[in-house]
Amino acid sequence: MKFSSLLTVSLVYITTVSATPSIGNVFCSNGHQAPSNTCCVWYDVLKDIQDLFQGICGDDAHDALRLAFHDAIGFSPALTRQGQFGGGGADGSIIAFGEVELEDPSNEGLESIVASEKVIADTHGVSYGDMIQFAAAVSVRNCPGGPRIPFLAGRAAAVAAAPEGLVPNPFDSATTIINRVGDAGLTPNDMVDLLASHSIAVQEHIDETIPNRPFDTTPGVFDTNFFLETLLPGKVWPGTHDNKGEVLAPFVEEFRLQSDFALARDSRTSCRWQSFIGQQSLMMQRFGTAMQKMALLGHNANSLVDCSVVVPAPTLPIPGVPILPFGLPVHDLELTCPAAATGGTSFLDGLLGLLGKLF
Ligand code: CA
Ligand code: CA
Repeated sequence: MKFSSLLTVSLVYITTVSATPSIGNVFCSNGHQAPSNTCCVWYDVLKDIQDLFQGICGDDAHDALRLAFHDAIGFSPALTRQGQFGGGGADGSIIAFGEVELEDPSNEGLESIVASEKVIADTHGVSYGDMIQFAAAVSVRNCPGGPRIPFLAGRAAAVAAAPEGLVPNPFDSATTIINRVGDAGLTPNDMVDLLASHSIAVQEHIDETIPNRPFDTTPGVFDTNFFLETLLPGKVWPGTHDNKGEVLAPFVEEFRLQSDFALARDSRTSCRWQSFIGQQSLMMQRFGTAMQKMALLGHNANSLVDCSVVVPAPTLPIPGVPILPFGLPVHDLELTCPAAATGGTSFLDGLLGLLGKLF
């Protein structure tokens, strides 16, 4: 890992938060067992995806997770109410109509994973919408600390490209982002929960002079460091300083998105943000739930088949509590969640007590 020297987590084994899905009683021709014949093919897909990911939490796995959000968020009931096509959500349109959707600057950098997943989906005759959400679940499972996300199969093929402009941008304000995801059916809490994904993410194209610069010091570990480190004051430009969507980072080894900075401090999202610091199990559980909700945008769960059992159970160590990098002081943290909004002083006191113990 490029920044392995910065790894600031302690790794401990704890019980995974996800319930174990039922293996079912259908015997597949490929030697596996599943709850439904629909699920059998996904074992073959899994092998190809893990070959692509090389079984690890690397660049392709990061891209697959990003792709899942960019496909699903292409869903706008507001446009539908205006008589326009509002997009099909998690329908695989970003693969099926890649020649259109990949022209959107918000989707820059997804070309390679779209091409790879298209080949695998076509090889096995599965829908692109299913392919994208399955690959995302596998990608998360490959990262230490990543929860086991349920997977439902049976999404129909996309009928058209998603309308332009539905993917939030890093230069959007907190209000713009909250309103956009709200239109799609996700709450501000859901948005924060989904942003746990930035714990295993890097930037590639916002500042092309420093590709793969991560959003936290542990991009190979699904931990709570992201929620902690984004609260440090911004001090440096890690690369060039005139990039749309970037704000000052706390140190040169890290990259900070304007949207992450804003949501970490906005009164509508800061309490949820702060609530994840040092709370690995809570973050895993809420991220998994939000991913399930996102994967169903544009779909009805009752018309899909639960193939969660095909996503392998995580086997990697789960991170412990985060530590502020480089010995930075805890009093530097820009904690904006008002204690009153969280039921008195207990939340903030508890948080500062936790941090005090940690640092
Ligand atoms: Ca879509
Ligand atoms: Ca991380």
